[in-house]
Amino acid sequence: MINAKITYHCFHCQSEDIVKNGHNPKGKQQYRCKHCGRGGVLDPTVAYTEAEKERIINAYYERPSMRGIERVFGVARQTLAVWLKKSRPRHPRHLSPRDPMTP
Ligand SMILES: [Zn+2]
Repeated sequence: MINAKITYHCFHCQSEDIVKNGHNPKGKQQYRCKHCGRGGVLDPTVAYTEAEKERIINAYYERPSMRGIERVFGVARQTLAVWLKKSRPRHPRHLSPRDPMTP
């Protein structure tokens, strides 16, 4: 017999005082935290590891198009856009050439 007990914590405040709160469209169990009132998915699927993200982001800075990245790596452009926003502070030298606000 395998008897595993998993204790889930709130991702926001680490409280154990969480309750089930339905499922998201993908069928993942969601929770709501009674302590901070926030919620989320109980065990989020990690689609890309940090190393994979890094590799794809670095590939993007070699200047292919976002659609090119999408075709090669199968990562949605929207996902890539989110990563790029988050990764920008670490790549300040890449900021200006691709910044659409720059004339
Ligand atoms: Zn909480």
